[in-house]
Parts: sequence; structure tokens; C-alpha cells
Amino acid sequence: MTDRIIAIDGPAGAGKSTVAKAVAQCSGLPYLDTGAMYRCIALSVIRAGIDPSDERAVAPIAESAVVDVDGATVRLDGEDVSTLIRGTDVSSVVSTIAVHSRVRTAMRLQQQAWVAVRGGAVVEGRDISTVVFPNALLKVFLTASAHERARRRVEQVGGDIDETAAAIAERDRSDSTRTDSPLRPAEGAVHIDSSGTTVDEVVSAICAEWKARSGG
Ligand code: C5P
Repeated sequence: MTDRIIAIDGPAGAGKSTVAKAVAQCSGLPYLDTGAMYRCIALSVIRAGIDPSDERAVAPIAESAVVDVDGATVRLDGEDVSTLIRGTDVSSVVSTIAVHSRVRTAMRLQQQAWVAVRGGAVVEGRDISTVVFPNALLKVFLTASAHERARRRVEQVGGDIDETAAAIAERDRSDSTRTDSPLRPAEGAVHIDSSGTTVDEVVSAICAEWKARSGG
């Protein structure tokens, strides 16, 4: 099955979701946004009024939540939370809950099962090519300059550029310094800096690489 997996990792605002959706089209593979799964757990934690840094309190939520990701539609215990999970309250808590090993184990098992049922996928996140699917046929590390990432985020969801840049920097710091599966490029990953390029150029490069490797 690993010969039908494209793993895309990178920091917040690098353009992973936009690129991964288009790559799903060209490869004919389904698309899984793993950040949406962590966001669901963060939303549940906020609603339950639990301290996000308390692993013993957060883990049972991650282990029992029914998270259902289907394209852009995300359900948490049956409720459509596709819009709610994009809120700034969730964004500011999600990296704190994503540090916990028990949360990561629960998410990793769900992600591996999701892909196994479908026989392959384009999977996007922070640890996909290093931990979840280290044997993916194509691994991509997608990044962009900090300024460009903040600018894109403001364009997408509005807000102040300096505040957005600070929030992204804090999330990057937490995601790349945690002990369990930190964000870092995987061995053998194709590095792409999307700062000065269009989405189409990035997508074309990944699709061409996929076709060459998969023989399709
Ligand atoms: O991709 P997105 O910005 O929606 O991810 C939200 C957060 O979820 C990340 O900042 C990170 O803390 C966490 N995450 C993770 N591992 C993944 C995907 C997301 O830790 N594979």
C-alpha cells in the first residue's frame, strides 16, 4: 500500500492543504488532512474545559472521540465541525494537545486505518513522512518563508499580519521542538519552497514526480 501514498509535511501556512487537494486530483488518490483530526481533539478539550497541557485529562478524549474526515467535511462525534475547527481559539490550543504521546498514538492509528481502508492517499500533516507513513512512495517537505506564510494566512482568514505571524511562529516552535514526532524533513523527502512559486507550479512538480515514481 505504501506505493500508493503521497506524504506531505510542512509548517503552518506553507500551502499544504491547497497543494494536497490538487495532488489528490492528479493522482486519483483520496485526500486526508491530519491537522483537522488534531483540531477536533482541541475543540473537544476546549468544550470540556480541560487544561490542554494535562495529558492524563486530554488523552481519554483523543482515544474515544469519533473523528470522521471526508474531503473538506470534518465530523466530531457525528457533528459537522468543519468551520468551527478553523477558529483562532482552536488554532491557539491545538499545538499544546498535539505534544502528548497518547494523543499522537490515537491519531496515528486512526490515520493509518483511514488510509488502509482506502488503499492509499495523499496525506498531509507534520509527521506523516517521518512517523505515520515513513515508507510512502513520495515524501514532500513543503515550506515557505515566515513572512509569506503569515501573509497567506491573513489572505485566507483575515486578521492582523503581526499577530498572525506571532501565532504561526509559536505553533512552529511547539511543533518542531516537541519530543514525540517533531516536525522535520524526512530522509528522502523532496524539499519544495513555495515562497516564490505559484500553487500550479508546486502541484505540477509533485504530480510529475508521482507519475515518474508510480509508473502512471
Ligand atoms: O495543518 P494544521 O495547521 O491544521 O494543523 C494544526 C496543528 O495540528 C499543527 O500545528 C500541529 O500542532 C498539529 N498536527 C500535528 N501532526 C499532524 C498534523 C497536525 O501535530 N500530522
